[in-house]
Amino acid sequence: MTTPTPTHIARPRQVDAEAAKDDSQLRQKTMIANHFDKLSTANEDGRKVAYTFVPGNLTELMLALDMLPVLPEINALQSGMRKLSGNYITEAEKLGHSEDVCTYVKCDIGMMKSGNIGPTGTKLPNPDILLLSYTGCFTFMKWFELLKEEYKCPVAMLHVPYQGDGHITKEMRTYVIDQLEREVIPALEKAAGKKLDLDRLSELLERSKKAEDDLVAVWESAQNTPSPIDGYFGGVYYIGPIFSAFRGTQDACDYYAMLRREVEQRVKEGKGPVTPDGDAPEEKYRLVVEGPPNWTNFFDFWRMFSREGATVVSSTYTRVGGLYDTGFRHDPKDPIGTLADYCLGCYTNLNLPMRTKLLASYIEKYKADGFLINSVKSCNSFSAGQLLMLRELERKTGVPGGFIESDLVDPRYFGKANIENRVQSYLQMLEARKARASA
Ligand code: SF4
Repeated sequence: MTTPTPTHIARPRQVDAEAAKDDSQLRQKTMIANHFDKLSTANEDGRKVAYTFVPGNLTELMLALDMLPVLPEINALQSGMRKLSGNYITEAEKLGHSEDVCTYVKCDIGMMKSGNIGPTGTKLPNPDILLLSYTGCFTFMKWFELLKEEYKCPVAMLHVPYQGDGHITKEMRTYVIDQLEREVIPALEKAAGKKLDLDRLSELLERSKKAEDDLVAVWESAQNTPSPIDGYFGGVYYIGPIFSAFRGTQDACDYYAMLRREVEQRVKEGKGPVTPDGDAPEEKYRLVVEGPPNWTNFFDFWRMFSREGATVVSSTYTRVGGLYDTGFRHDPKDPIGTLADYCLGCYTNLNLPMRTKLLASYIEKYKADGFLINSVKSCNSFSAGQLLMLRELERKTGVPGGFIESDLVDPRYFGKANIENRVQSYLQMLEARKARASA
């Protein structure tokens, strides 16, 4: 995906003027620019490169082996924000990829066929290995099959068993650890040309834990009224470093400490979130959102909410690269076991009742007035079962749900007027409900 992530997101140059930037955003932008600089000279510098996915990413493992991660999902969403995805998708469709294929995949294939120029305008290096951490979405496998054909490089696959019964058994955990030890780590070592140093891995995981603590504090700040953050539109920026190439680095620790301080300051000042138009107007509605955002019209989409005083207090998409607010932290004392736990617990690896339960817990914890599902046409992993989830959530929480449809990065599937009408009708319904409750 899914992911997050959401680098996830260096703000693209042409939309810079659209949103106010605080220090943490500027810092993130610099971090990402530096990362892409390193990628642009990776071949000359002898750095090895691993392509991988956001859900179930094994960033600390790659960094412990001095590899540079590339996340094709993030490149795709960046292309969406930079209005390049439409042409890339057309390119992929000309090559025979059907209209129904996940548009992150088609965007990535189209970008690759058009020279593989990354989000900062420099060419991305070819992968030395494809690290396929399979957490719940079948598309991940097909996507890397296509890339393997193109790049003729090895694939290290970690098969993560789906939480079909709603829990992780001892056998599932052992199965994942065994694969890491016997297959994935040796394959990465071979590609990296060096042996894994477990102490170094633990040091990285110690820093991951620290950054995860700060990120959770940021998520939980949304319990305040007004919420100082938007946990969806703003949230996709917050997950940038931790869902991409930076989990385990000092840069990520510094970024999340800074972000947390900024958010705590907003709480002290009684401020709502920053929006594309500056500080949010008075908070009128608190929402929980399920599903990925649309990236091609991201700021239009955000403004449909922010201009109406609707703040998203929590969302599931911002959890695709790690579900830390239910308690998981990377454990430096058990470096391989903790990677297995992380992958098994990814949002994309949860069954529908678990996803529904998580959403219900967000509605309750963050005192949401409603919840909205953005059903994304081409993401089966998220959209399968969403109508059922909607009904079940309404039944469980008594809070009304709304349903809109768009796409990740295919501009043909963002009907602005239609979506805006639906959002407005939904917010009017919440307004009427509030009025009735206080009458
Ligand atoms: S189908 Fe959804 S989860 Fe799977 S790769 Fe595409 S966007 Fe990600």
